[in-house]
Amino acid sequence: MPEEHVEPKDRSTARSLMRLWPYVKPVRARLASAVLIAVVASCLGLVIPLVLKWMVDGPVAGRDPGGVWLGALYLLLLGIAEAFLFGLRRWVVARPLAGVEASMRAALYRHLQRLPVAFHDRWPSGQLLSRGTTDLMLVRMFLAFPLTYLVVNSTTIVVGFVILLGQEWTLGLVLLAPVVPLMIVCSVFEAKYSLVARSAQDQVGDLTTVVEESVLGIRIVKGFGRHRSQALAFRALAQRLRATELDKARLLAGIWALITTIPELAIGAALVLGTIEVADGGLSAGTLVAFLSTALALRWPVESIGFLLAMCQESASATDRFFEVMDVAEEKKTATHRAAGPSGAGGMVFEGVRFRYPDAAPDSPPVLDRIDLRIRPGETMALVGATGGGKTTLTALVPRLHDATSGRITLDGEDITAMPRERLRELVSVAFEEPTLFSASVAENVLMGAEGAGEDELRRALSVAQADFVHDLPHGTGTQVGEQGLSLSGGQRQRLALARAVVGRPRFLVLDDPLSALDVHTETLVEAALRSVLKETTAVVVAHRPSTVMLADRVALLSEGRISAVGTHQELLRGNAEYAWLMSGADLPDGEDAFPPAPAPTTDTLGVYAPAEEGSSR
Ligand code: ADP
Ligand code: MG
Repeated sequence: MPEEHVEPKDRSTARSLMRLWPYVKPVRARLASAVLIAVVASCLGLVIPLVLKWMVDGPVAGRDPGGVWLGALYLLLLGIAEAFLFGLRRWVVARPLAGVEASMRAALYRHLQRLPVAFHDRWPSGQLLSRGTTDLMLVRMFLAFPLTYLVVNSTTIVVGFVILLGQEWTLGLVLLAPVVPLMIVCSVFEAKYSLVARSAQDQVGDLTTVVEESVLGIRIVKGFGRHRSQALAFRALAQRLRATELDKARLLAGIWALITTIPELAIGAALVLGTIEVADGGLSAGTLVAFLSTALALRWPVESIGFLLAMCQESASATDRFFEVMDVAEEKKTATHRAAGPSGAGGMVFEGVRFRYPDAAPDSPPVLDRIDLRIRPGETMALVGATGGGKTTLTALVPRLHDATSGRITLDGEDITAMPRERLRELVSVAFEEPTLFSASVAENVLMGAEGAGEDELRRALSVAQADFVHDLPHGTGTQVGEQGLSLSGGQRQRLALARAVVGRPRFLVLDDPLSALDVHTETLVEAALRSVLKETTAVVVAHRPSTVMLADRVALLSEGRISAVGTHQELLRGNAEYAWLMSGADLPDGEDAFPPAPAPTTDTLGVYAPAEEGSSR
């Protein structure tokens, strides 16, 4: 997790970057030719001083204007060739590297889809977004620029020094002297810079999260007049990022100053010494010109090293951040344990199920503890319990959005952990309290619930969910909804989510309070239509209102992490104080939040509330 990120001791830039190899491998030929082209181009630049030397010692000294013009022509051609080759390099790598970026992004996206829900509970979405955008862009830039130029510039420096030492080895050594201190400075810088670069990237992720939350929650922000506090939170993060970026700039400025000053001093010293030698007659003027222009030509390759190392650092952190996500294990495809065939009872059976959220405090009690429940084939079971009691959690275990910590759940006798996920998700359909619509048409959103379902199924599902309003939308079921489309009301979205759940005529249906946002009138209509669907499936329906409970054959009461009672609505109403209390409260205009926190009802409260529900006078 980003917040807990600690720099591992054995982290190495090179090792991080090496992990990119599988993605780079397909374009390795292109990349290598690009590097080669750039090396040739850069070394062509080193030929220019040699032409100058030839000109100074030859035509210039001999006062031969034709020779000077010829030299100038050579220089022009060299310049043009160098420019052409650098352009060619860019052209050679642009497309393959865009491909590398795209394939890494696709891999990340695919992986995110396969990570367990627990992962997404833990990771802020902004951190994932920034990994998929900024970080991958940094990686592509690394492959296009620092990677190539580190090779190119190192080669140029080596070739250059060979030329320098060949011209005049004493002066060459004067220039070589600063290399060792420069290398030490660079490695110190590298260590510092990598830490700052990493925090900057994490902070971009945090900032993205805040922006995303305030955009998604814009109604709350406006409704509660929270602009100021959101802006403050944003500003605090933005300023933290700004401070980190300034740290980065300071480090870069420092290294830049050193890297430019030290060679400059060395060149100055070589100039003085060389001039003395020329005056003494120990060196030709042409050699000194060639020597100094080679040294000047090497300035950019040397100076760029600090900057390139900085980019490598950033890319290494970006790569680390990418692989932090990629290294998290995906959901297991099929069972690893108990690949037993069907056995025992049919229907949906919970046996000794216990569940604790993976990121819950270790000493906290589990959300669900020793859940034993059997829903007979074809039966509809309502699940009732106080808010926060674990109803949503229990329903999430059936499609394996989370895996039970212990115990097991079977569908028609088959352990859900023993069947392939595709099969499980074919058997079970879900609708959650908070309906999600994707940026797609109404039809696509609903048909997502069943592979290969057609027009007829769509129409039936929409009518079960009383979602006939879609026919009045501008383009009927082809109307775009979701973020990029038409905004629907909460009740309309719930009905589409319900249609999605029932469209495939699933064997098992799990509905987490799917009617909570509907008005009483629509709810009655949906319930009437839903009855026919429920007849054909084995279903669990989380319910708050007596009217929803009426859809069920039996009711299970979830209380303090256990199923404390099972029976028909009437039985529980009469015999269970807590149930009576919940059901009577559910009709209060204030809704569920008006319940007192987890009451331990006495017979007294039963006496007060149960008759009220049954219509007796109070
Ligand atoms: P219900 O649907 O009955 O209102 P939930 O199943 O949503 O209750 O929540 C049960 C408990 O589990 C609550 O205390 C809640 O804080 C906790 N909880 C819910 N989701 C998570 C999660 N993703 N991670 C950790 N704890 C959670
Ligand atoms: Mg819930």
